[in-house]
Amino acid sequence: MAVAKKMLQFMESGSWIRKMFEEGARLKKIHGDENVFDFSLGNPNVPPPEVVKQKLLEIVNRDEPNLHGYMPNAGLLQTRAAVSSYLCGEYGVPMEPQHLVVTCGAAGALNIVLKSLLDPGDEVITPAPYFVEYSFYADNHGGTLKAVPTLEDFTLDLDGMEKAIGPRTKIILINSPNNPTGQIYTDASLQKLGEILSRKSKEYGHSIYLVSDEPYRKIVYNGTEVPCIFKFYTDSLIATSYSKDLSLPGERIGFVAVCPQADGVAKIVDALSLANRILGFVNAPGLMQRLISELQGICVDVDIYKRKRDILANGLIESGYTLTVPHGAFYLFPKSPLKDDIQFVRLLQEENILVVPGSGFGGPGHFRIAYCVDDHTIEKSLPGFRRAFERAQG
Ligand code: PLP
Repeated sequence: MAVAKKMLQFMESGSWIRKMFEEGARLKKIHGDENVFDFSLGNPNVPPPEVVKQKLLEIVNRDEPNLHGYMPNAGLLQTRAAVSSYLCGEYGVPMEPQHLVVTCGAAGALNIVLKSLLDPGDEVITPAPYFVEYSFYADNHGGTLKAVPTLEDFTLDLDGMEKAIGPRTKIILINSPNNPTGQIYTDASLQKLGEILSRKSKEYGHSIYLVSDEPYRKIVYNGTEVPCIFKFYTDSLIATSYSKDLSLPGERIGFVAVCPQADGVAKIVDALSLANRILGFVNAPGLMQRLISELQGICVDVDIYKRKRDILANGLIESGYTLTVPHGAFYLFPKSPLKDDIQFVRLLQEENILVVPGSGFGGPGHFRIAYCVDDHTIEKSLPGFRRAFERAQG
Protein backbone atom coordinates (compact mmCIF):
# COMPACT_ATOMS: atom_id res chain seq x y z
CA MET A 1 0.00 0.00 0.00
CA ALA A 2 1.45 3.37 -1.07
CA VAL A 3 -0.26 5.49 1.57
CA ALA A 4 1.30 5.64 5.06
CA LYS A 5 -0.49 3.53 7.70
CA LYS A 6 -1.06 6.53 9.92
CA MET A 7 -2.70 8.44 7.06
CA LEU A 8 -4.95 5.48 6.33
CA GLN A 9 -6.04 5.53 9.98
CA PHE A 10 -6.60 9.29 9.88
CA MET A 11 -8.59 8.99 6.66
CA GLU A 12 -10.91 6.59 8.45
CA SER A 13 -11.19 8.39 11.81
CA GLY A 14 -11.47 11.93 10.52
CA SER A 15 -14.05 11.30 7.90
CA TRP A 16 -17.41 12.26 9.48
CA ILE A 17 -17.79 15.63 7.79
CA ARG A 18 -16.54 14.18 4.50
CA LYS A 19 -18.94 11.23 4.83
CA MET A 20 -21.84 13.62 5.34
CA PHE A 21 -20.76 15.71 2.38
CA GLU A 22 -20.67 12.63 0.15
CA GLU A 23 -24.01 11.45 1.52
CA GLY A 24 -25.43 14.90 0.69
CA ALA A 25 -24.22 14.64 -2.91
CA ARG A 26 -25.82 11.17 -3.20
CA LEU A 27 -29.15 12.31 -1.73
CA LYS A 28 -29.23 15.44 -3.90
CA LYS A 29 -28.91 13.28 -7.04
CA ILE A 30 -31.93 11.24 -5.96
CA HIS A 31 -34.19 13.90 -4.42
CA GLY A 32 -33.00 17.17 -6.02
CA ASP A 33 -30.93 19.92 -4.34
CA GLU A 34 -33.93 21.70 -2.87
CA ASN A 35 -35.12 18.62 -1.00
CA VAL A 36 -31.86 17.86 0.81
CA PHE A 37 -31.01 19.88 3.92
CA ASP A 38 -27.26 19.94 4.26
CA PHE A 39 -26.08 21.33 7.61
CA SER A 40 -22.79 19.46 7.61
CA LEU A 41 -20.25 22.13 6.61
CA GLY A 42 -19.20 25.38 8.28
CA ASN A 43 -18.92 27.15 4.94
CA PRO A 44 -20.31 30.70 5.38
CA ASN A 45 -23.24 31.31 3.02
CA VAL A 46 -23.38 35.08 3.62
CA PRO A 47 -21.38 36.69 0.77
CA PRO A 48 -18.33 38.82 1.61
CA PRO A 49 -19.12 42.52 2.12
CA GLU A 50 -19.32 44.42 -1.23
CA VAL A 51 -16.21 46.43 -0.33
CA VAL A 52 -14.15 43.21 -0.55
CA LYS A 53 -14.77 42.99 -4.29
CA GLN A 54 -14.17 46.71 -4.85
CA LYS A 55 -10.89 46.68 -2.92
CA LEU A 56 -9.67 43.53 -4.63
CA LEU A 57 -10.28 44.99 -8.09
CA GLU A 58 -8.52 48.15 -7.05
CA ILE A 59 -5.54 46.20 -5.68
CA VAL A 60 -5.05 43.96 -8.75
CA ASN A 61 -5.12 47.03 -10.98
CA ARG A 62 -2.39 48.77 -8.98
CA ASP A 63 0.93 49.35 -10.61
CA GLU A 64 2.79 48.23 -7.52
CA PRO A 65 6.24 46.68 -7.83
CA ASN A 66 6.41 43.14 -6.42
CA LEU A 67 2.60 42.96 -6.22
CA HIS A 68 2.78 39.21 -6.76
CA GLY A 69 6.27 38.65 -5.38
CA TYR A 70 7.81 36.91 -2.38
CA MET A 71 7.84 38.85 0.85
CA PRO A 72 9.01 38.36 4.47
CA ASN A 73 7.68 35.05 5.85
CA ALA A 74 5.89 36.90 8.65
CA GLY A 75 3.93 38.97 6.13
CA LEU A 76 3.95 42.48 4.66
CA LEU A 77 4.89 45.18 7.13
CA GLN A 78 1.93 47.30 6.00
CA THR A 79 -0.42 44.41 6.84
CA ARG A 80 1.10 43.73 10.23
CA ALA A 81 1.00 47.46 11.00
CA ALA A 82 -2.67 47.83 10.00
CA VAL A 83 -3.72 44.70 11.92
CA SER A 84 -1.73 45.50 15.05
CA SER A 85 -3.04 49.05 15.16
CA TYR A 86 -6.63 47.73 14.87
CA LEU A 87 -5.98 45.11 17.57
CA CYS A 88 -4.88 47.75 20.08
CA GLY A 89 -8.56 48.76 20.22
CA GLU A 90 -10.05 45.29 19.75
CA TYR A 91 -7.92 43.56 22.41
CA GLY A 92 -7.31 46.63 24.60
CA VAL A 93 -3.61 45.73 24.60
CA PRO A 94 -0.76 47.72 22.96
CA MET A 95 0.06 45.51 19.95
CA GLU A 96 2.90 46.24 17.49
CA PRO A 97 3.64 44.74 14.04
CA GLN A 98 6.44 42.63 15.57
CA HIS A 99 3.85 40.72 17.63
CA LEU A 100 2.12 39.37 14.53
CA VAL A 101 2.65 36.76 11.83
CA VAL A 102 0.22 36.72 8.89
CA THR A 103 -0.91 33.17 8.02
CA CYS A 104 -2.82 30.92 5.63
CA GLY A 105 -6.05 31.06 7.63
CA ALA A 106 -6.57 29.96 11.23
CA ALA A 107 -5.50 26.43 10.29
CA GLY A 108 -2.14 27.75 9.09
CA ALA A 109 -1.92 29.88 12.23
CA LEU A 110 -2.52 26.90 14.54
CA ASN A 111 -0.01 24.76 12.69
CA ILE A 112 2.79 27.32 12.94
CA VAL A 113 2.02 27.81 16.65
CA LEU A 114 2.19 24.07 17.34
CA LYS A 115 5.31 23.67 15.23
CA SER A 116 6.96 26.52 17.15
CA LEU A 117 6.05 25.41 20.67
CA LEU A 118 5.89 21.62 20.77
CA ASP A 119 8.71 19.17 21.37
CA PRO A 120 8.02 15.52 20.55
CA GLY A 121 5.78 13.97 23.20
CA ASP A 122 4.43 17.29 24.49
CA GLU A 123 0.74 17.47 25.32
CA VAL A 124 -1.93 19.84 24.09
CA ILE A 125 -4.99 19.99 26.32
CA THR A 126 -8.28 21.10 24.83
CA PRO A 127 -11.84 21.28 26.20
CA ALA A 128 -14.20 18.79 24.53
CA PRO A 129 -16.18 18.93 22.32
CA TYR A 130 -13.56 20.43 20.03
CA PHE A 131 -12.79 21.19 16.39
CA VAL A 132 -11.85 17.80 14.91
CA GLU A 133 -8.71 19.01 13.18
CA TYR A 134 -6.93 19.71 16.49
CA SER A 135 -5.83 16.11 16.96
CA PHE A 136 -4.33 16.04 13.45
CA TYR A 137 -2.60 19.38 13.98
CA ALA A 138 -1.09 18.24 17.30
CA ASP A 139 0.10 15.04 15.66
CA ASN A 140 1.61 17.01 12.75
CA HIS A 141 4.10 18.48 15.21
CA GLY A 142 4.85 15.48 17.42
CA GLY A 143 2.31 16.39 20.10
CA THR A 144 -0.64 14.52 21.54
CA LEU A 145 -4.08 15.96 22.11
CA LYS A 146 -5.75 15.37 25.46
CA ALA A 147 -9.43 16.31 25.64
CA VAL A 148 -11.07 17.40 28.89
CA PRO A 149 -14.89 17.38 28.81
CA THR A 150 -16.63 20.71 29.39
CA LEU A 151 -19.54 21.12 31.80
CA GLU A 152 -23.17 20.43 30.80
CA ASP A 153 -23.55 23.93 29.26
CA PHE A 154 -20.16 23.61 27.46
CA THR A 155 -18.41 26.08 29.77
CA LEU A 156 -14.87 25.23 30.92
CA ASP A 157 -14.44 22.58 33.61
CA LEU A 158 -11.56 24.39 35.27
CA ASP A 159 -10.99 21.75 37.96
CA GLY A 160 -10.94 19.05 35.31
CA MET A 161 -8.44 21.06 33.25
CA GLU A 162 -6.20 21.68 36.24
CA LYS A 163 -6.16 17.97 37.06
CA ALA A 164 -5.32 17.08 33.46
CA ILE A 165 -2.21 19.30 33.36
CA GLY A 166 0.99 17.27 33.81
CA PRO A 167 4.74 17.67 33.32
CA ARG A 168 4.44 17.23 29.51
CA THR A 169 1.65 19.78 29.07
CA LYS A 170 2.90 22.58 26.86
CA ILE A 171 -0.28 24.11 25.44
CA ILE A 172 -3.87 24.66 26.48
CA LEU A 173 -5.86 25.16 23.29
CA ILE A 174 -9.24 26.86 23.62
CA ASN A 175 -11.70 28.00 20.95
CA SER A 176 -14.16 30.78 21.71
CA PRO A 177 -16.75 31.28 20.24
CA ASN A 178 -16.65 27.54 19.94
CA ASN A 179 -17.09 25.15 17.06
CA PRO A 180 -19.20 22.99 17.56
CA THR A 181 -21.03 24.43 20.62
CA GLY A 182 -21.09 28.21 20.04
CA GLN A 183 -20.06 28.72 23.69
CA ILE A 184 -18.07 31.87 24.58
CA TYR A 185 -15.79 31.78 27.64
CA THR A 186 -16.30 34.59 30.16
CA ASP A 187 -13.78 36.96 31.75
CA ALA A 188 -14.21 35.12 35.06
CA SER A 189 -13.42 31.68 33.64
CA LEU A 190 -10.43 32.97 31.64
CA GLN A 191 -9.15 34.78 34.70
CA LYS A 192 -9.27 31.51 36.66
CA LEU A 193 -7.71 29.58 33.80
CA GLY A 194 -4.87 32.14 33.75
CA GLU A 195 -4.32 31.64 37.50
CA ILE A 196 -4.22 27.86 37.06
CA LEU A 197 -1.70 28.13 34.24
CA SER A 198 0.57 30.47 36.22
CA ARG A 199 0.50 28.05 39.15
CA LYS A 200 1.13 24.99 37.00
CA SER A 201 3.88 26.66 34.95
CA LYS A 202 5.66 27.40 38.21
CA GLU A 203 5.09 23.87 39.51
CA TYR A 204 6.56 22.25 36.38
CA GLY A 205 9.27 24.85 35.81
CA HIS A 206 8.31 25.76 32.23
CA SER A 207 5.75 28.01 30.53
CA ILE A 208 2.45 26.40 29.64
CA TYR A 209 1.10 28.43 26.75
CA LEU A 210 -2.54 29.38 26.33
CA VAL A 211 -3.55 29.38 22.67
CA SER A 212 -6.93 30.75 21.70
CA ASP A 213 -8.38 29.83 18.30
CA GLU A 214 -10.77 32.66 17.43
CA PRO A 215 -12.01 32.64 13.82
CA TYR A 216 -15.55 33.33 15.13
CA ARG A 217 -14.59 36.30 17.38
CA LYS A 218 -16.81 38.68 15.41
CA ILE A 219 -19.69 36.26 14.81
CA VAL A 220 -21.45 37.12 18.08
CA TYR A 221 -24.99 38.12 18.96
CA ASN A 222 -26.83 40.38 21.42
CA GLY A 223 -23.76 42.58 21.94
CA THR A 224 -21.80 39.70 23.52
CA GLU A 225 -18.09 40.44 23.76
CA VAL A 226 -15.33 37.90 23.44
CA PRO A 227 -12.73 38.65 26.14
CA CYS A 228 -9.09 38.89 25.07
CA ILE A 229 -6.95 36.21 26.76
CA PHE A 230 -3.91 38.52 26.84
CA LYS A 231 -5.50 40.37 29.77
CA PHE A 232 -5.61 37.23 31.90
CA TYR A 233 -2.41 35.39 31.04
CA THR A 234 0.67 36.69 29.30
CA ASP A 235 2.17 33.46 27.92
CA SER A 236 -0.56 33.40 25.34
CA LEU A 237 -1.18 33.50 21.60
CA ILE A 238 -4.26 34.08 19.46
CA ALA A 239 -4.75 32.23 16.16
CA THR A 240 -7.45 33.55 13.88
CA SER A 241 -8.60 34.28 10.34
CA TYR A 242 -10.91 36.28 8.11
CA SER A 243 -12.59 33.08 6.92
CA LYS A 244 -15.82 33.66 8.80
CA ASP A 245 -16.04 37.41 9.51
CA LEU A 246 -15.29 38.37 5.89
CA SER A 247 -16.61 35.07 4.43
CA LEU A 248 -13.26 34.34 2.76
CA PRO A 249 -12.45 30.75 3.80
CA GLY A 250 -11.13 29.78 0.37
CA GLU A 251 -8.68 32.67 0.31
CA ARG A 252 -6.62 31.41 3.28
CA ILE A 253 -5.85 34.54 5.25
CA GLY A 254 -5.43 34.93 9.01
CA PHE A 255 -2.78 35.68 11.61
CA VAL A 256 -1.14 34.74 14.89
CA ALA A 257 -0.92 37.45 17.54
CA VAL A 258 1.52 36.89 20.40
CA CYS A 259 0.89 38.64 23.71
CA PRO A 260 3.45 41.48 23.88
CA GLN A 261 4.33 40.45 27.46
CA ALA A 262 4.85 36.75 26.63
CA ASP A 263 8.11 35.28 27.85
CA GLY A 264 10.52 35.36 24.88
CA VAL A 265 8.04 37.08 22.58
CA ALA A 266 10.65 38.01 19.93
CA LYS A 267 11.97 34.43 19.75
CA ILE A 268 8.41 33.08 19.48
CA VAL A 269 7.62 35.40 16.56
CA ASP A 270 10.87 34.41 14.83
CA ALA A 271 9.95 30.74 15.29
CA LEU A 272 6.44 31.33 13.90
CA SER A 273 7.87 33.07 10.91
CA LEU A 274 10.34 30.22 10.25
CA ALA A 275 7.51 27.71 10.71
CA ASN A 276 5.50 29.58 8.04
CA ARG A 277 8.46 29.05 5.70
CA ILE A 278 9.45 25.47 6.51
CA LEU A 279 5.93 24.08 6.63
CA GLY A 280 5.74 25.22 3.04
CA PHE A 281 3.22 28.03 3.45
CA VAL A 282 6.16 30.46 2.82
CA ASN A 283 3.84 33.42 3.35
CA ALA A 284 0.11 34.13 3.41
CA PRO A 285 -1.37 35.08 0.00
CA GLY A 286 -0.12 38.52 -1.05
CA LEU A 287 -3.33 39.91 -2.53
CA MET A 288 -5.23 38.92 0.60
CA GLN A 289 -2.63 40.56 2.83
CA ARG A 290 -3.07 43.79 0.91
CA LEU A 291 -6.83 43.42 1.08
CA ILE A 292 -7.10 42.93 4.84
CA SER A 293 -4.68 45.75 5.56
CA GLU A 294 -7.39 48.03 4.14
CA LEU A 295 -10.41 46.30 5.65
CA GLN A 296 -9.75 46.24 9.38
CA GLY A 297 -12.94 46.33 11.43
CA ILE A 298 -15.16 45.23 8.51
CA CYS A 299 -17.43 42.24 9.04
CA VAL A 300 -20.35 40.50 7.36
CA ASP A 301 -23.79 41.35 8.72
CA VAL A 302 -23.99 39.03 11.74
CA ASP A 303 -27.71 39.76 12.17
CA ILE A 304 -28.21 37.42 9.21
CA TYR A 305 -26.69 34.55 11.21
CA LYS A 306 -28.63 35.56 14.32
CA ARG A 307 -31.88 35.33 12.34
CA LYS A 308 -30.92 31.85 11.16
CA ARG A 309 -29.98 30.80 14.68
CA ASP A 310 -33.35 32.00 16.00
CA ILE A 311 -35.46 30.29 13.32
CA LEU A 312 -33.62 27.02 13.87
CA ALA A 313 -33.32 27.11 17.67
CA ASN A 314 -36.99 28.06 18.12
CA GLY A 315 -38.13 25.40 15.67
CA LEU A 316 -36.05 22.69 17.39
CA ILE A 317 -37.14 23.69 20.89
CA GLU A 318 -40.81 23.63 19.78
CA SER A 319 -40.27 20.09 18.51
CA GLY A 320 -38.89 19.00 21.89
CA TYR A 321 -35.12 19.15 21.40
CA THR A 322 -32.89 20.19 24.30
CA LEU A 323 -30.19 22.70 23.46
CA THR A 324 -28.15 25.61 24.80
CA VAL A 325 -28.81 28.63 22.55
CA PRO A 326 -25.31 29.99 21.88
CA HIS A 327 -24.33 33.65 21.51
CA GLY A 328 -21.64 33.06 18.94
CA ALA A 329 -20.43 31.19 15.83
CA PHE A 330 -22.97 29.56 13.49
CA TYR A 331 -23.49 26.13 15.02
CA LEU A 332 -26.08 24.51 17.26
CA PHE A 333 -25.12 21.45 19.28
CA PRO A 334 -28.40 19.93 20.54
CA LYS A 335 -28.70 16.83 22.68
CA SER A 336 -29.40 13.74 20.63
CA PRO A 337 -32.84 12.33 21.53
CA LEU A 338 -31.22 8.89 21.20
CA LYS A 339 -28.27 7.97 23.42
CA ASP A 340 -26.40 6.90 20.30
CA ASP A 341 -25.89 10.12 18.34
CA ILE A 342 -24.73 8.24 15.24
CA GLN A 343 -27.98 6.30 15.17
CA PHE A 344 -29.95 9.55 15.49
CA VAL A 345 -27.94 11.19 12.71
CA ARG A 346 -29.02 8.22 10.54
CA LEU A 347 -32.67 8.91 11.43
CA LEU A 348 -32.17 12.52 10.32
CA GLN A 349 -30.61 11.27 7.08
CA GLU A 350 -33.81 9.41 6.37
CA GLU A 351 -35.45 12.87 6.42
CA ASN A 352 -32.74 14.10 4.00
CA ILE A 353 -31.20 16.18 6.81
CA LEU A 354 -27.41 16.07 7.08
CA VAL A 355 -25.72 16.95 10.35
CA VAL A 356 -22.55 15.69 12.06
CA PRO A 357 -22.65 13.38 15.11
CA GLY A 358 -21.22 14.89 18.31
CA SER A 359 -18.93 11.85 18.64
CA GLY A 360 -16.99 13.27 15.71
CA PHE A 361 -16.09 16.27 17.93
CA GLY A 362 -15.46 14.34 21.15
CA GLY A 363 -18.98 15.29 22.31
CA PRO A 364 -21.08 12.10 22.11
CA GLY A 365 -24.81 12.27 22.79
CA HIS A 366 -25.13 15.47 20.71
CA PHE A 367 -25.09 16.45 17.05
CA ARG A 368 -23.83 19.55 15.25
CA ILE A 369 -25.94 21.67 12.93
CA ALA A 370 -24.03 24.25 10.86
CA TYR A 371 -26.75 26.84 10.21
CA CYS A 372 -24.73 28.95 7.76
CA VAL A 373 -27.28 27.99 5.05
CA ASP A 374 -30.28 29.69 3.38
CA ASP A 375 -33.22 30.59 5.64
CA HIS A 376 -35.38 28.58 3.27
CA THR A 377 -33.32 25.40 3.90
CA ILE A 378 -33.73 25.88 7.66
CA GLU A 379 -37.49 26.48 7.42
CA LYS A 380 -38.09 23.54 5.08
CA SER A 381 -36.04 21.20 7.28
CA LEU A 382 -38.03 21.80 10.48
CA PRO A 383 -40.82 19.25 9.82
CA GLY A 384 -38.12 16.60 9.18
CA PHE A 385 -36.36 17.47 12.45
CA ARG A 386 -39.76 17.11 14.21
CA ARG A 387 -40.51 13.73 12.65
CA ALA A 388 -37.05 12.39 13.51
CA PHE A 389 -37.48 13.54 17.13
CA GLU A 390 -40.89 11.85 17.35
CA ARG A 391 -39.52 8.63 15.86
CA ALA A 392 -36.66 8.67 18.37
CA GLN A 393 -39.23 8.82 21.19
CA GLY A 394 -40.52 5.48 19.84
N1 PLP B 1 -10.69 26.64 14.05
C1 PLP B 1 -12.00 26.41 14.09
C2 PLP B 1 -12.66 26.25 15.41
C3 PLP B 1 -12.74 26.32 12.92
O1 PLP B 1 -14.07 26.07 12.97
C4 PLP B 1 -12.08 26.46 11.68
C5 PLP B 1 -12.81 26.33 10.41
O2 PLP B 1 -13.95 25.99 10.33
C6 PLP B 1 -10.71 26.70 11.70
C7 PLP B 1 -10.04 26.77 12.89
C8 PLP B 1 -9.94 26.85 10.42
O3 PLP B 1 -10.21 28.11 9.91
P1 PLP B 1 -9.53 28.61 8.55
O4 PLP B 1 -10.44 28.20 7.44
O5 PLP B 1 -9.43 30.09 8.69
O6 PLP B 1 -8.22 27.98 8.45
